[in-house]
Amino acid sequence: MKVLVPVKRVIDYNVKVRVKADQSGVDLANVKMSMNPFDEIAVEEAVRMKEAGTAEEVVAISMGPEQSQETLRTALAMGADRAIHVVHDGELEPLAVAKMLAKVVEEESPDIVFLGKQAIDDDANQTGQMLSGLLGWSQGTFVSKVEVADGGMKVTREVDGGLETVALKMPSILTVDLRLNEPRYASLPNIMKARKKEIAKKTPTDLGVDTTPRLNTIKVEEPPKRQGGIKVGSVSELVDKLHNDAGVI
Ligand code: AMP
Repeated sequence: MKVLVPVKRVIDYNVKVRVKADQSGVDLANVKMSMNPFDEIAVEEAVRMKEAGTAEEVVAISMGPEQSQETLRTALAMGADRAIHVVHDGELEPLAVAKMLAKVVEEESPDIVFLGKQAIDDDANQTGQMLSGLLGWSQGTFVSKVEVADGGMKVTREVDGGLETVALKMPSILTVDLRLNEPRYASLPNIMKARKKEIAKKTPTDLGVDTTPRLNTIKVEEPPKRQGGIKVGSVSELVDKLHNDAGVI
């Protein structure tokens, strides 16, 4: 079985984002970038499948600027076998990413594509679902457990009311949630080994996909600053304030 794992280079989750002065977007100058945290979970699950003998090959793919290679090297150091870099400067919307992934899926014929449930920069939560639509493949979103058996999969999904278990036919698209696993840190020897692993380069043109954005960002704003808190003297004062001042009860 072959597993394809799309990994996105995003602003590190520990960084406090700054909005550009002209409100056209988020300032990325000199900001630490890392692999999207949900994609780390996806790589971890794919590598565990390989270690368990369920998967034979794990291929990581990233679409983005030259520096996305660092993200791919992280995936390789975690245990992916090889990587594909679709080199693209500038914005990429989920539909363009999904179209390019669909082309790579045609070339690579994986049995599972493991994506993050969402990228923490655009919070779109769209790419996996769009890819499933484009390919006509089964999909399991917000996945917190995966069991492969008899040419299919039993997948547990985190839904609002609790957990839902679905049976999926392969090939399939899975988007992973936080509780699926805890990703490993790459060891130094594995980071060194990853330097020698192959990263194939492609362009959107090679894949025949027009990446021109279809959406126009009108304005990006910071959330309103939080007001300072106050100390209340008693429960009845708290209830009074929640009722009369905040209007929440
Ligand atoms: P989104 O739909 O933008 O929230 O992204 C969901 C998932 O799609 C991410 O967690 C990644 O697995 C994948 N993805 C999105 N954009 C890219 C990209 N530029 N390169 C590789 N994978 C991506």
